[in-house]
Amino acid sequence: MRSIRKQVEGPKFIFVTGGVMSGLGKGVITSSTAKLLQLSGFRVSCVKIDPYVNCDAGTMNPIAHGEVFVTDDGGECDMDLGNYERFLDIALSKDHNLTTGRVYLDVIRAEREGKYLGQCVQIIPHVTDAIKNHLRKIARSENLEIVVVECGGTVGDIESLPFLEALRQLELEVGHSNTLFIHVTLAPILDVVGEQKTKPTQHSVQELRRIGIQPDILAVRCRTKLTSEARRKISLFASIEENSVVSCHDAPSIYKIPELLESQGMLDVISEKLRLENCSPRWLNWRSIAKSFHTYEGSIRIAIVGKYVSLPDSYVSVYHALSHAGASIGKKIEVNWVESQKLENTTGSSGLHHLRTYDGILVPGGFGKRGSEGIINAANFARLENIPYLGICFGFQLAIVAALRNLCLIENANSTELDPDTKDPVIDYMPEQRSTTELGGSMRLGNHEINIVPTTLALDIYKNDKIFRRHRHRYEFNQHYRNILLDNGVALSAFSDSGKRLEIFEIPNHRFYFASQYHSEFSSRPGKPEEAFVGFVRAAALKS
Ligand code: GLN
Repeated sequence: MRSIRKQVEGPKFIFVTGGVMSGLGKGVITSSTAKLLQLSGFRVSCVKIDPYVNCDAGTMNPIAHGEVFVTDDGGECDMDLGNYERFLDIALSKDHNLTTGRVYLDVIRAEREGKYLGQCVQIIPHVTDAIKNHLRKIARSENLEIVVVECGGTVGDIESLPFLEALRQLELEVGHSNTLFIHVTLAPILDVVGEQKTKPTQHSVQELRRIGIQPDILAVRCRTKLTSEARRKISLFASIEENSVVSCHDAPSIYKIPELLESQGMLDVISEKLRLENCSPRWLNWRSIAKSFHTYEGSIRIAIVGKYVSLPDSYVSVYHALSHAGASIGKKIEVNWVESQKLENTTGSSGLHHLRTYDGILVPGGFGKRGSEGIINAANFARLENIPYLGICFGFQLAIVAALRNLCLIENANSTELDPDTKDPVIDYMPEQRSTTELGGSMRLGNHEINIVPTTLALDIYKNDKIFRRHRHRYEFNQHYRNILLDNGVALSAFSDSGKRLEIFEIPNHRFYFASQYHSEFSSRPGKPEEAFVGFVRAAALKS
């Protein structure tokens, strides 16, 4: 482990803010910065600040905000936590996602408990103090040397002001050599002139300065490498040395970004400002992992059938897990997003038959009735046509419905989520869910132990009879239908909670038909792909 020259006691903070517009890849820049520091031997972690008023991401529609990422401890978090976990290969707790809702909940609770007795409770200092204390507490309780804090939203938003104010105060309190600000902006090229425009960056830095923050590093997103002319201009107008203006141009894969940042000397700037000693990354196998994401021999076509396909970010961890598994066998994964509602009408459905053109069909998690009959049709089609199938959570539940209807001939088989009055509730509310009244944070969440049954595909895949995986669901398989499934040759290959809940369902003598109640996608890492995804991708690569 490298050492930090002890100038000031306590952890160091790197703050990543965003300018110009959203969607610039701040999460990847945050993760890559943390990765460089981790590879240099520091104890580092990331925190995501989300300025929206929801307490967590669990109650938001994935089409509006992207996937809900589930942590080991059952947090329903912003999808950027997935990036941090994948880059750093660590498991984060839900405390690593801080929202306005969460901060206000704590402050208001403290006010009700009389903790601020006699005081008028205000944004400054009470809300800003709560934010700073939260960040310090994470650093302290996890014994971190450096915390990289990403502030969601764009500078200038009203919502993010209390957070930025807290970060500004933190700089004052812990000292300049213990804090560093990275501001992520954009240098667009207008088609007509073909020149990189620096004005949006200039304006966004001005906006940041207006609230008292002078960035130390500008990470400028651009399609092609930032020209020296653009770099010089940005340096001049933003009052930042040229070597602190980093070009974040398009890379062949996100895992190349740490190398891209390092090649421009970003770590030198960080180590000088934060007074870090021996700050040079020992790349270990990271470079070869990153390379495996752009050196492929052949590709595999996968259909992801779901209801949130209009925004691929809704299934971002599924997408990454597929790409990790693909890279591990040297195959590029071409994903096609298929709207499940289009597969609802089976008679003469060209949509359904079109699924035959894919090497594999994946059904990820989901909620509610819309499009569900299309998923059931797709799951049945994959079974009948011997097309590799991977079902996750909703994709597991509806594969069971499909098997009970079409293989076991229980015509009315359904999930009570889709038809509360069904005669055959083969997927039903978990008993402990019946008494919950609040929707936020009330599902079966987080890591649970899973016990795998011998002589199953699951055991072949995991090579272990006990695994831990993350969950997020309200419904489960109704074990009254266990024997009828077994009598029809289906394998029930893993259980949790002392056999109470079915976790894996397989169809033997199929190229690959594997569905899990748990979310395997949250456990996949570059270089360490999740086993079920590897099994699926391998089967898909063996063309029928
Ligand atoms: N809607 C299903 C449930 O609540 C599946 C959830 C999911 O796919 N995450 O159990």
